[in-house]
Amino acid sequence: MKDNNKKYDAIIIGGGHNGLVAACYLAKAGKSVILLESNKELGGATTSVKTFPEYDARLSRYSYLVSLLPDQIVADLGINFTTIGRSIASYTPYERAGKNDGLFISSDWDEATANSFRQLTGSDKEGKAWCEFYRDIALLAKRMAPSMLQPLKTAADLKSEMGLPEVWRNLMEVPIGEVIRNQFSDEIVQGVVLTDALIGTFASANHMQANRCFLYHLIGNGNGKWRVPQGGMGALVNELHRIATSWGVEIKLQSKVTTLESGAMGVLVETESGEIYTAKDLLFAAAPQHLAKLRGSAVPESLEGAQMKINMLLSRLPRLKSNIDPKLAFAGTFHVNQSYSQLELAYATALNGEMPELLPLEMYCHTLSDPSILSDALNEKGFHTLTLFGLHTPAKLFDTDPDAAKALAKQRAIASLNQYLLDPIESVLAPCSNGSLAIEVKSPLDLAQEISLPRGNIFHRDLDFPFLEEDGEKSSHQIWGAETDDPHIYLAGAGARRGGGVSGIAGHNAAMALLSKDVK
Ligand SMILES: Cc1cc2nc3c(=O)[nH]c(=O)nc-3n(C[C@H](O)[C@H](O)[C@H](O)COP(=O)(O)OP(=O)(O)OC[C@H]3O[C@@H](n4cnc5c(N)ncnc54)[C@H](O)[C@@H]3O)c2cc1C
Repeated sequence: MKDNNKKYDAIIIGGGHNGLVAACYLAKAGKSVILLESNKELGGATTSVKTFPEYDARLSRYSYLVSLLPDQIVADLGINFTTIGRSIASYTPYERAGKNDGLFISSDWDEATANSFRQLTGSDKEGKAWCEFYRDIALLAKRMAPSMLQPLKTAADLKSEMGLPEVWRNLMEVPIGEVIRNQFSDEIVQGVVLTDALIGTFASANHMQANRCFLYHLIGNGNGKWRVPQGGMGALVNELHRIATSWGVEIKLQSKVTTLESGAMGVLVETESGEIYTAKDLLFAAAPQHLAKLRGSAVPESLEGAQMKINMLLSRLPRLKSNIDPKLAFAGTFHVNQSYSQLELAYATALNGEMPELLPLEMYCHTLSDPSILSDALNEKGFHTLTLFGLHTPAKLFDTDPDAAKALAKQRAIASLNQYLLDPIESVLAPCSNGSLAIEVKSPLDLAQEISLPRGNIFHRDLDFPFLEEDGEKSSHQIWGAETDDPHIYLAGAGARRGGGVSGIAGHNAAMALLSKDVK
């Protein structure tokens, strides 16, 4: 055992972006901080990696788009990190009456979008419903977003502050599947709306857990826009690292915490290699399930992760059967097998222990918005990246034979995508010198193994609504959503209330909870 004899104000466990955000706020406020990260690099789910060693292409290996990171955190910490807006929201290819077409949706409603809705549904009714639905949600997003960085409010207080009872009811009180079915009649349109409720959440459209996921996908930064991180997700982590060290945060990599003790005088942790650190307080920026294990307390129950992440490098973009320019089709979110009934069927199939045949998936091309993740040489040759996120592939499908299940999921994802391509995706994947193609597949079990996401849950645990839901919670110790039943331990990662996604909100709120002790 090695004790460095220094007592810090705070130990932070976990060097994902939330741990780094918390470290920055605390160090900026004058606290002495040490951050312990088990992996050999920082970032957790927000890393950029040279995935295919012979190609100079740095792909966002896990998370890939930014919406939830508030401008306030960027400004408070002076983070030099740019996100790029996408003028195209999505493209959903479909085949009807033997003809290939697609639903094209611009980020801001325009004539091309109106025509595309008309082409799919035969009238302007569905497009009008779309505009009304998202107009109302945009109002709520704008009003609700600032509350994410404030002490928690009760549902009743926040609801009355929002002043939008109908929207509140639709998002917070009625299953989102029911709302979508009432609002829209075309099941492709219904599915495009529903996907936001299912990203990272293994649920049916009729489960309230889907509502929570939906809300987080639509209120980010007050506008719900999903933007491309310039330079990839790793650029955010590099910046946070720079800022944290400039304020004196000590960072120790390959320092997995295996023991945790807490008492009246503060906390003590020991790493796998026997280093001991002590502090007044501890911010736990990894999953709450790991904290529970370290403390010997009951592990919180949660849904398991249910997504495949596939990263690809292409020598060129594939042509589509619908004839749309691939630069338009892949610039926004490209939806496959995501009609309402396909999503529900895939969920039921996976729940029943089988890999969905028609895997619902969504993709986007980072390099159409931001070529900076590729070398000049690759850009000149016309290379691109594709990021694929497959839904409804829960961890349990991979338990018995992880390799075989991964191979099956990959095959189904490729077949699903190829339904709509003139050039099968394999024909445009960059070749590697060992004879393989430039495609990397991550199952939920890989995420658990590589970055400690419990059963691959991308939000660490089930998302909560961003307010105190039950009367009992109001009188509990929850103020910032970071507090635990130990006055020296705070949750600072995605698993804190209002955490989840690339937002830094959990890190901010945990730092505020700790700093507010000083003013009591
Ligand atoms: C495939 C995938 C795609 C995603 N896509 C998006 C997206 O596009 N946009 C979005 O907003 N969100 C996305 N997410 C979710 C988002 O990335 C995460 O919710 C968020 O990054 C979590 O950040 P965090 O800092 O709280 O935790 P993490 O990033 O999970 O970091 C926790 C860190 O703690 C470390 N750790 C764990 N245990 C210990 C220990 N005992 N001792 C020391 N260190 C420990 C881990 O190694 C890890 O580095 C995605 C996630 C995944 C996996």
